[in-house]
Amino acid sequence: MRIYDLIIKKRNGGRLDTDEIYYLIEKYTAGEIPDYQMSALMMAIYFRGMDDMETLDLTMAMTYSGDVMDLSQIPAVKVDKHSTGGVGDKTSLMLAPLVATCGVCMAKMSGRGLGHTGGTIDKLESIPGFNTQIDIETFKNNLQKHGIALMGQTLQMAPADKKLYALRDVTGTVENMSLIASSIMSKKLAAGADVIVLDVKTGSGAFMKEYNDSLELATKMKWLGNRAGRKVSAVISDMNQPLGSAVGNSLEVKEAIETLRGEGSEELKELCLTLGSQILILSGKAKDEDQARSELEKNIASGAAFEKFKEFVSAQGGDASVADDPSLLPTASIIEPVPSPVSGYVSSIVCDEVGMCSLCLGGGRASKEDEIDLSVGLLIKKKIGDEVKKGEPLAYIHANDREKLKEASERLINAYSFSDTKPARPALIKEIIS
Ligand code: URA
Repeated sequence: MRIYDLIIKKRNGGRLDTDEIYYLIEKYTAGEIPDYQMSALMMAIYFRGMDDMETLDLTMAMTYSGDVMDLSQIPAVKVDKHSTGGVGDKTSLMLAPLVATCGVCMAKMSGRGLGHTGGTIDKLESIPGFNTQIDIETFKNNLQKHGIALMGQTLQMAPADKKLYALRDVTGTVENMSLIASSIMSKKLAAGADVIVLDVKTGSGAFMKEYNDSLELATKMKWLGNRAGRKVSAVISDMNQPLGSAVGNSLEVKEAIETLRGEGSEELKELCLTLGSQILILSGKAKDEDQARSELEKNIASGAAFEKFKEFVSAQGGDASVADDPSLLPTASIIEPVPSPVSGYVSSIVCDEVGMCSLCLGGGRASKEDEIDLSVGLLIKKKIGDEVKKGEPLAYIHANDREKLKEASERLINAYSFSDTKPARPALIKEIIS
């Protein structure tokens, strides 16, 4: 087999068979196929596409290109959740302890933030002492003992995807549905969970801006997961405005804690109840959505989910007293309102720009190597459909630098549009593919 022939075959619209795809992934991971040839192949796939079976073969080849986590010695159902990334998306911080109180094991593999989207690992690292770099043995022990554990993807998991995604990123070949779905699912399958719940965001703050693209990606990823023998549900949720109010690492942890206590964001709670219900149904812990929701609501109201959050934080070396006293989280030195320039209603928000405001305050990364300031960010006070008077705060900015505050403030005002009549609020949950 020669890579040259496979490039020509795909360029001419042919399909790659299982052996050819495994050959490509094996040789590329081993460094035996150079980047220039793999780039040509990715571009051929970008234009010619891949059918379902090619996409499945690519997913499985990348899944088994490195270590696959074996969680079989843990008797409970193991669950992982994936978000395609958003602004103010602190869902995992609340969802993981919440479902763990219902007898499922939340084996969460997470990433760091990049660009306008945040990452769960960074958020948790704003809790003093919290260790996201635990080894696999500790991960498994914590799962067994506490029903919840979180770690970053190891370098040995799906290494083919790591290499290929980095190559696609610099060769204009990211935006192909089969390549995106196989990239995400190979990492999730290698993480070893029995149940995978996907939160596919749609809208101006999402990776997929158009609803039909989000639907296509969600459907493809669910199909791939099912073919790989996993139970998968996908929820398509709105990302035309930040989720809840807080955007920025420690601010988001604080909002998640408040919501776990039953006092925070209704939106965040609703998304957690929706995703949590799918998890309980797929895990066999609830027979339908009504039963699942009432179990989850009960565990918020009783404080069980809040206590599980503290147990989780302590188990990973963090200071659980932040849950009772969030002022122990990193705080910014300057807090200033962003006054509305007009009176009227908020008609739209360019959501990825809100993420960029947090990034320019120092709360996010423009490139993977950047250090971040965990204390900065925004608390959004006016969302789509809200009435606002001129001068009333649209948001409060938490900053450590006046220049950056000024830039974020101007950027935030430009991200808002206003109307004289009250617009409809976007529905949070667009679709559940179960
Ligand atoms: N996220 C991924 O992990 N892979 C892609 O290809 C695109 C987004």
